[in-house]
Amino acid sequence: MSAGGDPDPVNHVVVVGGGTAGWMTAAGLASMLGPTGLRITLVESEAIGVVGVGEATLPHIKQFNDTIGVDEAEFMAATSATFKLGIEFVDWGRKGDSYIHPFGDFGMPNNGVAFHQYWRKFADVEETGPLDSYSLPVIASRMGRFQPPSDDPRSVLSTYRYAYQFDALQYAPFMRRHAEARGVTRVEGKVVSVEREPEQGTIRSITLEDGRSIEGDLFVDCTGFFGLLIEKTLETGYERWDEWLPCDRAVAVPCESSGPLLPFTRATADTAGWRWRIPLQHRTGNGHVYASAFTNDEEACESLLTNLDGAALADPRVLRFTTGKRRKLWNGNCVAIGLSGGFLEPLESTSIYLIQEGITKLLELFPSHGGYHVEREEYNRRMDLEFERIRDFLVLHYHATERDDSAFWNHMRTMQVPDSLAEKIELFTAHGHVARYDHGLFLVPSWVAVMIGQRMLPQSYDWRVDQLPSAEVRQHLAGLKNHIAKAAASMPDHAEYLQSYTHRRSAA
Ligand code: FAD
Repeated sequence: MSAGGDPDPVNHVVVVGGGTAGWMTAAGLASMLGPTGLRITLVESEAIGVVGVGEATLPHIKQFNDTIGVDEAEFMAATSATFKLGIEFVDWGRKGDSYIHPFGDFGMPNNGVAFHQYWRKFADVEETGPLDSYSLPVIASRMGRFQPPSDDPRSVLSTYRYAYQFDALQYAPFMRRHAEARGVTRVEGKVVSVEREPEQGTIRSITLEDGRSIEGDLFVDCTGFFGLLIEKTLETGYERWDEWLPCDRAVAVPCESSGPLLPFTRATADTAGWRWRIPLQHRTGNGHVYASAFTNDEEACESLLTNLDGAALADPRVLRFTTGKRRKLWNGNCVAIGLSGGFLEPLESTSIYLIQEGITKLLELFPSHGGYHVEREEYNRRMDLEFERIRDFLVLHYHATERDDSAFWNHMRTMQVPDSLAEKIELFTAHGHVARYDHGLFLVPSWVAVMIGQRMLPQSYDWRVDQLPSAEVRQHLAGLKNHIAKAAASMPDHAEYLQSYTHRRSAA
């Protein structure tokens, strides 16, 4: 600690935990800051193990991998990954409904007005069709097609991005190899105590079961739901959001693959929660997220097992969680990344994104020169916004429903939502406008996909739409729909593309 009370420059980072969060953090820091001489040590305990779920991601992960120098084909082969163009939501607005939240746009804006506004004007006219028909990634998903987006911004094939679905147990070991190759030191052992500076209360060192002690300047808590440093040691506190997101358990089971290899994750609403289906190269990941106040483990398990589309490959495993986040994601000299920082159910595959944001923001604000209380405040402010905006987006899925077939859905449909979400819904249902912000994951097309996909149709539309003659707009809609259908049909089958891509790369 310097004379002014500010922390000293950070020369040694100690990451505690070697799951997805720990190894992504170590790999990210080593790739970006290793060359500056920063020392990074990661401590993990094989005896404790990892949570072992977390297989569906968002397109941002590609950017992370690219930034730290991960080779895509190598990564996909090592983690049995598939490509992902979005998430299909089944039975959410009403039983029997299905829509896809794509990683891409609906149409193109015209005169600064979002495409869905033009679509809304004619939404009641039959030949216009659902909004889905104007999204290339939706149509390609429905056809089971995939190819990487085009670099030509004039092409409709440039209007989407993609993510991956991968084997959770293979991803951290892959990142470990990447991190160790860049100088990260791995220490095997269980942390049994944490020592603090007597005056400042910051963390000085950790002690392992065998008596070894490891000192550090900055500690990253990646101990998962244990929250060993951020909570058990620093008692940071937890902001619970189960009032709006009451699902508090999940049961997970892998099964044999069957049917075509779909380039999307599926989330099917159940009576007291929802079930996920994640297609991988070698198997399918499945799970059921549910609210224990409305159902029990046996019922949840039964619903999961009866809806598998292949033979189960393991016994179902129940996990418990409380939705919410730490009051401070960065407290003193400890940053919580991953499940130790908080958890929002995986309905929109956001947890690994939050890990990535935690790493990216830490890198941006990294306290190489010491004295970081302002950076810490800014980190917490930005991460809070990320968490809160994802929370609102998730709540929307449960609230925008007509379902009244169970106590759970009646509760979710009629509950009071956070003010920030209520305002968004009001704005959208009036004239189709979507509030925009500087920080936060989900952009206009995502909100539009879920609101319209769950029957929240705006009463009217942006007045500027009427500045174009109706015949011209209808002609444009028909032309675009046709163009997208043809472009999607010209794409290769997802499984075939995946096979030829991995073959081509391994031959090279
Ligand atoms: P863990 O994997 O639990 O790792 C904790 C590490 O800390 C382990 O290495 C452990 O050994 C170590 N550790 C703990 N205590 C000690 C100690 N005393 N000493 C030494 N080491 C210790 N995310 C997504 O993005 N997409 C999804 O589809 C998705 N699905 C999910 C489904 C469910 C049901 C759940 C619960 C989560 C899901 N997630 C998903 C979240 C995702 O699984 C996690 O964000 C991710 O795996 C990171 O976990 P972690 O590394 O924080 O924790």
